[in-house]
Amino acid sequence: TVRTRFAPSPTGLLHIGGVRTALFSWAYARKNQGVFVLRIEDTDLERSTPESVQAILDGMQWVGLAHDEGPFYQMQRMDRYKVVLQEMLAQGSAYYCYTSKEELDQMRADAEARGEKPRYDRRWRPERGKTLPAVPEGVQPVVRFRNPVDGVVAWDDAVKGRIEIANSELDDLIIARPDGTPTYNFCVVVDDWDMGITHVIRGDDHVNNTPRQINILAALGAPLPVYGHLPMILNADGQKMSKRRDAVSVVDYSQQGILPEALLNYLARLGWGHGDDEFFTLEQFVEWFDLKNVSPSPSRFDREKMLWINQQHMKAADNARLAALTEPFLSKLGCDTQQGPALVDVIALLKERVTNLVDLAAQASYFFRHDAAPAELAAQHLGEEARARLARFKTVLADTAWDAPALSAAIKAFVASEGVKMPLVGMPLRAALCGTTQTPSVDLVLHLLGKEEVLKRLDHIEA
Ligand code: GLU
Repeated sequence: TVRTRFAPSPTGLLHIGGVRTALFSWAYARKNQGVFVLRIEDTDLERSTPESVQAILDGMQWVGLAHDEGPFYQMQRMDRYKVVLQEMLAQGSAYYCYTSKEELDQMRADAEARGEKPRYDRRWRPERGKTLPAVPEGVQPVVRFRNPVDGVVAWDDAVKGRIEIANSELDDLIIARPDGTPTYNFCVVVDDWDMGITHVIRGDDHVNNTPRQINILAALGAPLPVYGHLPMILNADGQKMSKRRDAVSVVDYSQQGILPEALLNYLARLGWGHGDDEFFTLEQFVEWFDLKNVSPSPSRFDREKMLWINQQHMKAADNARLAALTEPFLSKLGCDTQQGPALVDVIALLKERVTNLVDLAAQASYFFRHDAAPAELAAQHLGEEARARLARFKTVLADTAWDAPALSAAIKAFVASEGVKMPLVGMPLRAALCGTTQTPSVDLVLHLLGKEEVLKRLDHIEA
């Protein structure tokens, strides 16, 4: 069976690049009736926080990418790493190294003086017929991996194609620190092995780790997974996305009123394509997805396109669900949706006019609270003449049956009797009732607001 994993480090919020990695790993597992594992790589004690773990779990839940196994926590697997370390030491694929920091500094300086890349000179690496230095007293050694010296490490990357690295480029990697704790690359290897990961799909910032990890897996006699390294997501200016400049966390998008399925749809399109298809469901994506169609070059985040995709998903979404999702945004605007028209009806009226839930809530708000038109709008549409006209229309409305056709007919008749064009009634009416002129057709707005509320709101402007 195919087994994939998402292995975030809990050092901040869940990043959208991470979500895309998770999405591709998840989809690959789904597509192949496989297993998707969630693993929290929390060994960096300085930077890992429980809040961040929670943010990752919440974020994954919000986008709806469910894991089949896990979450596993590396900090809970320390004993296992230490067992494997001991096995490697016993079998000779790892060794203790007592080189001090001063010695390493010296090596670096010497290499630089020779114009070479600084590297560990393998002085503690056991070799047949080689005498090792005397073990210094009171020094806790690190454990180093005995990297092959000759040959190349090569793999067929599922995204980037064939990659080859000469072993001469690779140091004998430190796999355990002086205090015995395993290092990052080693934990990843043991985990991918133990968890039976068949496809490692991750960001291409890890490409440099892959040859080291392959060598360690080979030394352990572990099967090699397929690796697929995903290119970066850049911002609109072609720069690496940054927390300070760009909306990078899942929370940013939920706060911007983006639907989870729309965010996934958009992220799917970043670096992967299926013909000209832009708008699709998650099920459709799983059916189409293949690592072969992932582009090896970076993609740019395009906010307009994301909003367009969000709009398509809003149109397709069930109104009751949209209402539930919009309610918190309305509540932030001080609207009590228990009063006034049914929120689902408001959503049905407005949802095709907006691209996100924030705008939807802003437009829906006038159904739940009455704000006076801003001064400029009032000056434009609620002058003396307009107010007198609205007062006349109010008496008409008081005698009108409250359904859309009757309201529409009443408006038409009133416009004719006033001898003016429709906007001279419609715009003042919108401004007076809604505090804005950006609304759907007035008859529909009147109908939804309800007779009592409309008459009450018109009272306000008569003075
Ligand atoms: N923990 C790593 C990260 O968050 C991912 C490691 C991996 O996927 O192998 O970047």
